Amino acid sequence: MECKRCNRQLKTQKSIDNGYGPTCKKKQEEADAEFLRIQITIDEELAYQEKVKR
Ligand SMILES: [Zn+2]
Repeated sequence: MECKRCNRQLKTQKSIDNGYGPTCKKKQEEADAEFLRIQITIDEELAYQEKVKR
């Protein structure tokens, strides 16, 4: 089983369960949080445009 992010061999069962090594898991979580933050902003933007249209 390799890390989904860097393809290095995962050593612990916990990492295998996560699909990432500890460092990559943290980076992946940060990237997900950033994606979510952007996603929320886009949703708000769309909601605003919808409001303006009417
Ligand atoms: Zn990794």
